[in-house]
Amino acid sequence: MKYDSTNIFGQILRGEVPAFVVDEDEFTLAFMDIMPQARGHTLVIPKEPAVDIFDISEKVLARLVLQTRRIAVAVDKAFEPDGVSIVQLNRSAAGQTVFHLHFHIIPRWNRGELKQHGAIQSSSKALENNAQLIRKNLKE
Ligand code: 5GP
Repeated sequence: MKYDSTNIFGQILRGEVPAFVVDEDEFTLAFMDIMPQARGHTLVIPKEPAVDIFDISEKVLARLVLQTRRIAVAVDKAFEPDGVSIVQLNRSAAGQTVFHLHFHIIPRWNRGELKQHGAIQSSSKALENNAQLIRKNLKE
């Protein structure tokens, strides 16, 4: 599949669609998933246009993985979950719905099921509060 820059994350990267941003650096952007599967569900994407993990340069992938772990550390501190899932889907058959590479960071609790994937939109207030909490726990 060829990268199509009109996808929703491409629009977020260009500032055409707003997002609850957690952090940004030269290569990546981290923001709240608008339909979180659990409180604190965060996405980390490369700025490089890439459909999936097979479509990205090694240099940016390395930065993306390191940044994903850095954000996951902050998510873990912010919400103190029992566990943290880091998930990345490639192509429709694997469940990918947005065709710009991204890592999901999803806090997990022993009690309580995950909400359905990409189904229920959270309130702006909750998303902003969660983004703020993660930002507070981010190490320089
Ligand atoms: P995928 O299925 O491709 O791995 O995940 C795409 C994710 O993007 C889903 O978890 C979905 O909730 C999220 N998502 C879809 N549209 C938007 C949007 O407009 N803004 C944000 N922040 N997340 C979105």
